[in-house]
Amino acid sequence: MKVLVINAGSSSLKYQIYDMTTETALAAGRVERIGMDSSILVHEPHHTDEVTEVSEILEHTTAVRKVLDKLTDPEVGVIKSIEEIDAVGHRVVQGGDLFKESVIVDAKVKAGITSLFDLAPLHNPAHMMGIRAVEANMPNIPQVVVFDTAFHSTMPEKAYMYAIPKVLYKKHKVRRYGFHGTSHDYVSKVTAETIGRPVEDLKIVTCHIGNGASLTAVEGGKSVDTSMGMTPLEGLMMGTRSGDLDPAIVPFVMMKEDLTVNEVNSMLNKHSGLLAISGSSSDMREITEGMEQGEPNATLAFEMYVYRLRKYIGSYVAAMDGVDAIVFTAGVGENSAVIRQHTCEKLTFLGVEIDPELNKIRSKEPRRISTPNSKVEVLVVPTNEELMIARDTYRLVTEAK
Ligand code: AMP
Repeated sequence: MKVLVINAGSSSLKYQIYDMTTETALAAGRVERIGMDSSILVHEPHHTDEVTEVSEILEHTTAVRKVLDKLTDPEVGVIKSIEEIDAVGHRVVQGGDLFKESVIVDAKVKAGITSLFDLAPLHNPAHMMGIRAVEANMPNIPQVVVFDTAFHSTMPEKAYMYAIPKVLYKKHKVRRYGFHGTSHDYVSKVTAETIGRPVEDLKIVTCHIGNGASLTAVEGGKSVDTSMGMTPLEGLMMGTRSGDLDPAIVPFVMMKEDLTVNEVNSMLNKHSGLLAISGSSSDMREITEGMEQGEPNATLAFEMYVYRLRKYIGSYVAAMDGVDAIVFTAGVGENSAVIRQHTCEKLTFLGVEIDPELNKIRSKEPRRISTPNSKVEVLVVPTNEELMIARDTYRLVTEAK
């Protein structure tokens, strides 16, 4: 069975096709600048070099058609015809409290995703465009949606409620949902496999730190708390997002600077975080370089980032009353030995001890970086959200047959 995984954004569409008999990715790729001039399609087949094509792709239906053309191309394709694709799986960011697990797409599911547009205005409308684009190109194919929020649906009320008037939860569903759930789920399972213990017996802090960043307390395989909130703005300091701040700052700044709702939203989501503090970059590679060269703004950005990360790890250890493993994943977590080192070196109160040599190793495999003496296992696990989406799609479509 072959499954096509799609992650549709408002002007982009990422894809990956899997052969589920072996769980191997046959090809991946992305379409960027949809709806703009000079749209770009990058196709990366497993058997040959990647190809890049520049053309005009005005909307998602054309983007999906171009992807299907590449997948079936005699030279760079990986399948002979579209009929070889048995199902399509989509990433959907916000499932609200409507969707606690992945589901097969039908009219009710589409209405549900649409009813959540207010909660995820940048994401859910784009995901619906992806679903409709697949319908237009492959009318009878089963489609499955996998929600970023679903893994966090096990959070207890005390973790997901905000201490504000309850009517806001009843009327507008204001609560913590959490994101990156597919990744936190995947890396916690791989962590358990890697250390050879059942996930049901473990307390794990999963650190998904990429451009967006979130931490999750995973107890017995279930999310019991997570740092992102009703939106992906809360929690850690990120590339361009502020993370936690005193909520009173928002009306104060709006008043003092005469900002609109959209302007303050844009400030907190796109012009804050590492970018705002360093004044130069949202990319941790450049921040680290600046810090190593003694540049004061980059140094402050780096220190704030690590300090918050450590505070969150500490608070989740307290939330679970213990920890067996801490795991790093995503762009920064998988690649930055310096961030891992600085984060772990002040977790000695937990008995954390990492091996500097193991920490330096670069690999695509899950690996331990803690010493045999460490009281807490520390791991690096490359995340694979696409594989999780393909697995859920395969399972649901097979069960429905
Ligand atoms: P992601 O959102 O998971 O794709 O992560 C992207 C981010 O990972 C980039 O913006 C970089 O800041 C970061 N990143 C990638 N490679 C490295 C590296 N070698 N060192 C530090 N940060 C990195």
